[in-house]
Amino acid sequence: MQFRDLGAQYLHLKHEIDQGIAQAIAGSSFIFGPQVGQLEQALASYVGTKHCISCANGTDALQLVLMAWGIGPGDAVFTSDFTFFASAGTASIVGASPVLVDIEEDTFNLCPMDLERRIQQVLAEGKLQPKVIVPVDLFGQPADYPRIEAIAKKYGLLVLEDGAQGFGGAIGSRRVCSFGDAATTSFFPAKPLGCYGDGGAIFTNDDDLDSLLRSLRAQGRSPEDKYDNRLIGMNSRLDTLQAAILLPKLRAFEAFELEKVNQVASWYDELLTGHVRTPIVREGYYSSWAQYTIQLADRARRDGLQQHLKQHGIPSMVYYPRGLHQQTAYQWMGLKDADYPATSAASKRVLSLPIHPYLQQEEVCAIAHQVAAFIKGT
Ligand SMILES: *Cc1c(COP(=O)(O)O)cnc(C)c1O
Repeated sequence: MQFRDLGAQYLHLKHEIDQGIAQAIAGSSFIFGPQVGQLEQALASYVGTKHCISCANGTDALQLVLMAWGIGPGDAVFTSDFTFFASAGTASIVGASPVLVDIEEDTFNLCPMDLERRIQQVLAEGKLQPKVIVPVDLFGQPADYPRIEAIAKKYGLLVLEDGAQGFGGAIGSRRVCSFGDAATTSFFPAKPLGCYGDGGAIFTNDDDLDSLLRSLRAQGRSPEDKYDNRLIGMNSRLDTLQAAILLPKLRAFEAFELEKVNQVASWYDELLTGHVRTPIVREGYYSSWAQYTIQLADRARRDGLQQHLKQHGIPSMVYYPRGLHQQTAYQWMGLKDADYPATSAASKRVLSLPIHPYLQQEEVCAIAHQVAAFIKGT
């Protein structure tokens, strides 16, 4: 059994994917070929934003937006403490100061109350200028944008949605990557919509930001004259080949994969409720299930269950074994576990189980059976 079976997906979509790759090679337009523009249009229309700007990966996507907004030294960028490193690391790359915010213990997403408390703290200290909030749609569920956007408005901050794990999720009819002033996603192979290498994209309704980002991803070149560089930019492009792979994958994602992965999650919910703490999805929210993450009573039981599953050939992952405040690179901040009670607790209790659209009901039953057997035995 695989944690995320990309082979099963390829077998299912082989014909369209192979055709797309062959066409891209035959066209020989390997950089910014027509498939890149087609994909950007398809993504923007799926998400519901005016613009989509593809780039090399989800990390660059975040960095490019921060660069476009001129975020740098002296600026505070608020993000979740419980996420992949890039959500905060990109703020550090541009010279700004990440301010880590604790999470809600039930959704694992940025806690709006703690966010406001930390904004006020930064204002009171007077050393940094609050500028941007980077909420993360962890494990596929959108963050609490209604409350976060209200806080952003109150304090005059920009919102950059990190939708790397949330692509396909929604709040009501608003899809992930349409929140905030700009949003980013990643096409890393294991994300909800993955390619066959690295890839990423940025979404916005802002025309000026769109043209600035198109320049910044291509060495800061001017739109009129590509050998006149008006800005200092990056080299961050999505390959034509990856776009060709993503086009049929996006169609399958929309047509049935998202629905199927939600079906898998509901099988888990049914079979695991009463044995372990199952993930919750807020009323009116829709998850794309980048991860299905259960919680155990403590670290010993979490590690014990992971070992037990491994012995039965079932892979599982700990996302994440530590909060960002515990990362070696951020030790200089001197942050304390006690100031991050929800992430500190989650990092000891969480275990993510295999989930993907091609997981069979029998496999879910077998996994749930082993989880229940372990819980009964301890
Ligand atoms: C994966 C991920 C990223 C970075 O994406 P890459 O394409 O790997 O650079 C950023 N933020 C979050 C929350 C992620 O999960």
